[in-house]
Formats: sequence, structure tokens, C-alpha cells
Amino acid sequence: MSWVQELARPEIVALEPYRHAAWEPSLERLHANELPWRPADDDSAAGLNRYPEPQPRALVERLAQLYSVPRDCVLVGRGSDEAIDLLTRTFCRAGRDAVLVCPPTFGMYSVCARIQGAEVAQAPLLAADGFALDGDAVLARCVPGVKLVFLCSPNNPTGNLLDESQILRLARRLAGRAMVVVDEAYLEFAARPSLARLLAQLPNLAILRTLSKAYGLAGARCGALIADPEVIALLRKIIPPYAIPQLTLEAALRHLTPDALAASRAHLAVLMQERQRLTDALPRLPGVTRVWPSDANFLLAEFNDAGAALARSREARLLVRDARGYPGLGRALRITVGTPEQNGRLLEAWG
Ligand code: PMP
Repeated sequence: MSWVQELARPEIVALEPYRHAAWEPSLERLHANELPWRPADDDSAAGLNRYPEPQPRALVERLAQLYSVPRDCVLVGRGSDEAIDLLTRTFCRAGRDAVLVCPPTFGMYSVCARIQGAEVAQAPLLAADGFALDGDAVLARCVPGVKLVFLCSPNNPTGNLLDESQILRLARRLAGRAMVVVDEAYLEFAARPSLARLLAQLPNLAILRTLSKAYGLAGARCGALIADPEVIALLRKIIPPYAIPQLTLEAALRHLTPDALAASRAHLAVLMQERQRLTDALPRLPGVTRVWPSDANFLLAEFNDAGAALARSREARLLVRDARGYPGLGRALRITVGTPEQNGRLLEAWG
């Protein structure tokens, strides 16, 4: 048995997956119980009357190119949220296995674990050290049964990158025992290369990427898992057969052309300037006690009275995220960097 088969749930390793209708675009389709006519005004390329291609080849290839990884290391999902769920269901046995998270961090890792009936172990980030990863605590809490270690870099909601050498040390030490899943949803906003380049050396590393943030496609729901081909093959067994909607596929391909990428790079440049503007201006506002440095498209700020600040932003018709529910962040709000006009309005509301 391979290390992936040893680590994954035996039921998933043994599972005979659903056999979806064959994908043979050169033939006319009388094999999938679809209607033979397009709906009125359907201007999609393939026709919405047709089931989409499972794991669309063109999109897998495009994402492999975008992230500079081999095609067989890519699984496309409905946002990176779907990959978190699939990983948890593939590796964690209900009532027996666990995931490890480093709070304060993105909530879906533990929500997916709880839905699956898996335990959630914790190794908190070190607030006194700029929310740094506590590698020793992660290793100490990675008892047998912890199958997935979720590391978010840049981390949501704190905005900081985690130390790369620590992540690699964890991946090496946990080889064969746990997958180290690095969520790079916000990596495009940081001046740092992806860890995906190290996958060949560290096969228990898995990377989450998304088109929802820097590429501006949150509404299309498209993300990717980059992992060892054997891990990808296992997850393909349990992803629903026609997971990627035709409209998502077409939108993603349309917005990943060289021209579209140039346009999103231009937006990114403005966003970085605006992040700097907020980083400089927020600490000077009355009532703001701390602004954490950010490598993402949001800022975490602490207030004397976060409730009052929330109310004032709502009066200016702006929603920011109440972060007070995160452990250790009892006075914090998370502010997504908006347009120059929106950021100006927020600063005015809090001024
Ligand atoms: N990871 C992180 C750290 C996030 O903040 C989010 C969205 N808030 C996601 C993953 C999920 O993003 P999506 O499903 O849109 O790819």
C-alpha cells in the first residue's frame, strides 16, 4: 500500500466511484438523459442543456499553467472551500481522526471537520510574535489520528504570512503521518512564491488556491487543490460527478486570458496602494489601538470600542467584518481593502 492509501479512509480507497456519462464531445449525446434543445437565450458555448465536462480538461490545464504545476496535480472545485471539504472527507474517519488548526484562522477547516465527525486539535498562532506559527506546538499536538494540518498563509483574519521554513519542517516531520495543507487563498497579495514548487520533494504537502480573491471571480466559485497525483485521484473519486458548472468553466477561461490577467494585475497594483494607505491612516484615527501588518487584501485592526466603529461604518453604508469572535481578538475588526472611494469613506466615518 502507498502512503496515501495508508493515510486515507479505507472506505474511500476501496470506493467504486460513480460512473458519469462518458465525455466524448465528437459524438452526439443520447446517453445522459439531457434535453436535446438549448434553453431560449442560452448563449453559453456548450449549451446549458448539457452536463458539463467533469474536471474540465481546458480549465485543469489553464490552472496548472497559472500555478506552474503538472496537470495531474490539480483538482478544480467550487471554490477552495470544496477542496477543504473533500480533503476532510477523504482522510478523516468520523469519531476517530482529527484535523489540526492554528487559531485565529479561517473557520471552514474546523467546520468541515465537525461536519465529518472529526476532532479539531489546536496549536494557536503566537499573537505576541505577530501571529507566527508555533511549529513545536503543532508537532506536539499531532498525535496519531491527526490526518490534516491546515496552515493559512497569508492567514485569514490576521493577514500575515507564515514562516516558510517552519511549514517545510512540519511537512518533513509529518511525512507519511499527516497532510500539511497550506491555504494560499491570498498569496497573490504577498511578495512570496507558492509552496507548490516543493510538492515533488514533499508529497504530503497540499496547496489551496482560488480565483475568488486576486482574480475577482468569487461569484464564479472556482478554486483548486494542488497535491500529489495520488491524492488528487482519490479526491476525484468523491467530488460530485459534474461539480464545475458550465457557466463557471466558461467564465474562468474567459477571465484567465493574457488580457484579462493584465487587467487583474492592474487592479492588484491599485489594491496594494490602497492597503498601504489604510495601513498608514488607520492607526492615526481616534479609537484605533492597533493595525496589524498585512500581506493580504484585508487588514485586522483593534479598537477601543469595536461595536461603535462597526455602527459608524454601517451608517456610511459599509460593512466590515466583526472579528471579535476569534480567540484573542476581542476588540478587532477585519477590513477588506475596497476602492479608493470606499476606503476614503471608511476613514471619514471613523475619523
Ligand atoms: N481560504 C481562505 C483563507 C479564505 O479566506 C476563503 C474565503 N473567505 C477561502 C479559503 C474560500 O474561498 P473560495 O471557496 O471562494 O475559494
